[in-house]
Amino acid sequence: MLFRQLFDVESSTYTYLLASRVGGEALLIDPVQEKTPLYLQLIAELGLKLVIAVDTHTHADHITALGDLRSATACTTLMGERTRAECVSAQFRDGEMVGFDGVRLRALYTPGHTNESFSLVGDDRVFTGDVLLIRGTGRTDFQNGDPRESYDSIFNKLLRLPDETLVYPAHDYRGCTVSTIAEERRWNPRLQVRSVEEYVALMNGLRLPSPKLMDVAVPANLRCGQAA
Ligand code: FE
Repeated sequence: MLFRQLFDVESSTYTYLLASRVGGEALLIDPVQEKTPLYLQLIAELGLKLVIAVDTHTHADHITALGDLRSATACTTLMGERTRAECVSAQFRDGEMVGFDGVRLRALYTPGHTNESFSLVGDDRVFTGDVLLIRGTGRTDFQNGDPRESYDSIFNKLLRLPDETLVYPAHDYRGCTVSTIAEERRWNPRLQVRSVEEYVALMNGLRLPSPKLMDVAVPANLRCGQAA
């Protein structure tokens, strides 16, 4: 499998390019609008055909490239079934497969950061969106986030994946690029709680400022990043 991890400095977002092989079909996870020329150039250089662009959830901190990528490549745009972004070509359900020959990802419904967040599970890795981060977890205080759902998604779904599963989040603010399920279970400070109540209290006590772009990004992303 061909795999690239791309980074947007402005929003500290990771975007993932997956393809079966050089010259094959490709899929992008959580692409950032400003980076569209970079993606298109890389896709051309590798001789790839972009067939799917997918967002794990409606982002509040950057504008999605889904709409621009669809305009440029006629790719299919996908999000989970609970998204309010009706601009996507199709929505996937929990347990459904996303991808094509050589790249198969299982959609795993993992609400908590938002109520429409999905993770995407491959053979040896999981793309966790903002539900599970490296040594952190996604905030639960807006966009119908819920710390109880976050706990359930993490402890009862993601941490049940094999220990060696690679964890690729949608963000990192410190420079970490990848982790594993075992590493997060042991070292993620948010996960060292004894009960769901303890986790809820921890998350409700964070009092984080709203993302700078939230009032712009969320409405724009409900239109897949395209003008109103
Ligand atoms: Fe997010």
